[in-house]
Amino acid sequence: MEPKRFESESESHHDVVAEARRAQAEREKGYRARALKMYPWVCGHCGREFSGRKLRELEVHHRDHNHDNNPPDGSNWELLCMYCHENQHARHGVAAVYGDEQGSDGLSEPLSTHQPFAGLADLLNKDKK
Ligand SMILES: [Zn+2]
Ligand SMILES: [Zn+2]
Repeated sequence: MEPKRFESESESHHDVVAEARRAQAEREKGYRARALKMYPWVCGHCGREFSGRKLRELEVHHRDHNHDNNPPDGSNWELLCMYCHENQHARHGVAAVYGDEQGSDGLSEPLSTHQPFAGLADLLNKDKK
């Protein structure tokens, strides 16, 4: 509830974000390697097979969309080609799960606290969606 404090820390915040991205990339490498050992290199949706360089296009999808949920038995993972993976996220409307850090930038839009037409704006927004 204190957006101003958030702003004043934006510089260090960026460092934290960069650090978090790096950490996440490391983590992704970890579960990706494990998932690739566990499952055949086939897209779970379109059935395309991958090997060699093409393997880069095979991505690890989290069934519950929680990238931190990486059970050792692989039950939360599904191998999808990058196209099906994208579709999967688009369909569930949870693409935002991908970039919590990126999303926070979008959230810092200046919002006036005094909004006489807040209710109306809500209605309009609902209409658009
Ligand atoms: Zn596919
Ligand atoms: Zn996914």
